[in-house]
Amino acid sequence: MSTSEPRIPGRRFLHSPGPTPLPDAVLHAMSVQPMDLGDPRVGANIAACERGLRGLLQSDAADVFMYASNGHGVWEAVIQNLAAPGQAVLVPGTGHFSESWALQAEALGCRVVRTPWREGWPIDAQAVEQALRDDRAHEIQAVFVVHTDTASGVTSDVAALRRALDAARHPALFVVDVVASLGAAPFAMDAGGVDVAVGASQKGLMCPPGVGFVAVNAKALAAAERCTAPRFYWDWVRRRDAMPYRKFCGTPPQNLLFGLEAALGLIADEGLDAVWARHARLAAAVQAAVQGWREGGVLDFFAREPASRSVAVTTIAVKPGAFEVDALRHVAREQFQVALAGGLGPLNGRAFRIGHLGDSNPAMILGALAGTEAALRSMGVPVGEGVPRAVRALAER
Ligand SMILES: *Cc1c(COP(=O)(O)O)cnc(C)c1O
Repeated sequence: MSTSEPRIPGRRFLHSPGPTPLPDAVLHAMSVQPMDLGDPRVGANIAACERGLRGLLQSDAADVFMYASNGHGVWEAVIQNLAAPGQAVLVPGTGHFSESWALQAEALGCRVVRTPWREGWPIDAQAVEQALRDDRAHEIQAVFVVHTDTASGVTSDVAALRRALDAARHPALFVVDVVASLGAAPFAMDAGGVDVAVGASQKGLMCPPGVGFVAVNAKALAAAERCTAPRFYWDWVRRRDAMPYRKFCGTPPQNLLFGLEAALGLIADEGLDAVWARHARLAAAVQAAVQGWREGGVLDFFAREPASRSVAVTTIAVKPGAFEVDALRHVAREQFQVALAGGLGPLNGRAFRIGHLGDSNPAMILGALAGTEAALRSMGVPVGEGVPRAVRALAER
């Protein structure tokens, strides 16, 4: 922070759905001096991250490739390893994130088959099955699924989509983007029949932005070996090497990886079931508050179906013309020290979002909800009582 800015007393609550707040243990783990690539700590750290990610993804079979990259980078890795220019992929519609991934695949020369996005609803597994059945020549190489679309706050049913591929008897690879859901919502790569899982460091994993990763099973690795798309930095085949620097196609992002190792350790110590239960409990508190706020008639859940509301992020739809979403974010951030996210893509100006994933607890969530409600009230937005409902939701569980 520049010295001319006034100090913020206390802490600003970060409630974007990524980046998310860092645990102190992660911050401390990153404050190490860089080391030469032959230092045994480099290899040990990389191995620990790979082990931790396999545990978190619940996969024995997978090769893990990590990149100095954000989520968009690993999207590109998936595209270039699995679909050459002219080949097709199927991207089921989830909103902003599926469309962004689809546009990236098209920019790299792929043909994209889409299923329609219905606002507020998860992926339609029947439409996916039909699109695969219609592809009689089996031109579709892979299905790219966004598990939780961070813009809509909707989580789709991975198991139902796996069944759709199986029912259509289509050999396409099943690729799932768990950037926003990993470490928040239940996910099991091997048991779920997922061929490639795609993640990034800055959301449920409680690390700074800068590390993207993919886990790749044997079937997907074989497809990558056959794939003729020109590539170098992202190439899985080239990165399959015992030498740490070869695994990163250059220098690994060492300090970030020390943070990642620490974060994976925190998740393992808490236990995956406990981490998922904590996210479900905190999400229920947020949803209880929104249930109260919507009584004012201008706010509502964007996700129509309670079962598909994300445990990581809640998207709150704003009645058109009721108030400026950016003004709310400004008041919440500057006066109440709660950083909220806005609406993305087609939801720009139509929604705001509260992230509730990663390193969070009941008091932090109540603080964020109270700051948000105070901001709404100070702007004169009509809302019902939200915070007391959140308190009760937490007290009763
Ligand atoms: C955040 C996000 C991405 C993109 O990650 P960046 O690190 O911002 O590039 C991709 N998919 C999902 C589901 C996300 O939430």
